Amino acid sequence: VNPDSDWKFSTAAVLSTGTEILQGLYADTNARFLAEKLSAAGITVTAVAAAPDNPIELEKTFSHLVGRADLVICTGGLGPTEDDVNRDVFSRVLGVGLVLDDASVEAMRERFRMRGREMLDSNKVQAMLPAGCTVFANNWGTAPGFFVPARLTGKAALVALPGPPSEMIPMFNQFVAPLLLECSGGRSCVLTRTIHTFGRPESLINDQVRDLFRRDPDMIYTVLAKPHGVDIRITAHKSGAQAAESAVAELVEATRQRVGPDIIYGFDDMQLQDAVGLLLLEKQKTVTAAESCTGGLIAKLLTDVSGSSGYLKESWVVYSNDAKTRLLGVRAETLEKHGAVSRGVAIEMAAGALERAGSDYALSVTGIAGPLGGTPEKPVGLTYIGFAERGKPTRVERFLFSGNREQNRLQSALNALDWLRRELLGNAP
Ligand code: ATP
Repeated sequence: VNPDSDWKFSTAAVLSTGTEILQGLYADTNARFLAEKLSAAGITVTAVAAAPDNPIELEKTFSHLVGRADLVICTGGLGPTEDDVNRDVFSRVLGVGLVLDDASVEAMRERFRMRGREMLDSNKVQAMLPAGCTVFANNWGTAPGFFVPARLTGKAALVALPGPPSEMIPMFNQFVAPLLLECSGGRSCVLTRTIHTFGRPESLINDQVRDLFRRDPDMIYTVLAKPHGVDIRITAHKSGAQAAESAVAELVEATRQRVGPDIIYGFDDMQLQDAVGLLLLEKQKTVTAAESCTGGLIAKLLTDVSGSSGYLKESWVVYSNDAKTRLLGVRAETLEKHGAVSRGVAIEMAAGALERAGSDYALSVTGIAGPLGGTPEKPVGLTYIGFAERGKPTRVERFLFSGNREQNRLQSALNALDWLRRELLGNAP
């Protein structure tokens, strides 16, 4: 392959083939993998599509994509069976005939021999490849992949790979990835930074950063609502690492000015619990938790972080009323008068945990995670988070979450952790 003439693409389309994908029987993870790799190589992905193993439908979709991108990367449909129609469709649409590739036949025969089996004649069809293509040997399965350059088709170039990810991914890495790097000639540099925020709705953040979306045509700026808060992802496609770095840094700074520094808890791989852990270590403070509806999720998140023994010594899961009283000293009157999900109980849980652990901070959570247990006065999602700090009055906040059980529990734990983060920053909500 001559990278100068054959591997020069600025746009690509990804096509996954297999009727099962369109029936929802498995998730199209190939498309996700390829779209990410192509984008990271500085190639703009203009379409991601899926088509069934039906020659008419496949031909329609494939022809459409061939007209929409410099390169089409297609996975699946290279098997030996009747429904593996891709080779024929590629040949028709691209106007390149199929020829038997002897080296591929030999490689397949050898693979069967090593497994003590005889290759069937029907397998030979897998070695019928577009004339003049570059063959990608399949060391992980049977069907070879291939590359048909645009100079042979007069249209888009084609990369075809087998469907099973266990074959597609290593073949992509071995044959396609190095050439994609060359394809950008080392000129294009793609850099992505993700800003993580917590505590502000997506729509409000969107309003605050509205003018940043289309500031620079070489940048992609997106706002994404995630379970752990709202992420802002900034991607730069620039000529050279330095240009990309400074373009990203400039947009990060502009974002920080608009949303305010306190709701940003980290970048890229950093999670809320990492940010909290770093602050606790820096300020040499310890924390504990008293958890009812979260069942230990706060402690789990805190201890996800290596080195968390530096700030978490112990923690409680107090699910029943009896446990709340016996382990943390929550008063029977408070439970009787206000119920387990109440301000008073959240306060006494946090205060009891703080005292028993001898920590600097204690977080407590009591709530109705659902789906059962809600009443008109105390609906599903109602949650009280308590916050105790050595030498200060214990405080409590009321939340009403609207998710399912798992989401409500996660939001409870994250809000408790974020409260602690803001206190540690000296920026209480
Ligand atoms: P083979 O040579 O094994 O017949 P093939 O190229 O014909 O491979 P398919 O028959 O289309 O591939 O797919 C085989 C299996 O690979 C599917 O049943 C599925 O489990 C997995 N697979 C195929 N395409 C995808 C995809 N886009 N994402 C995730 N998994 C996939």
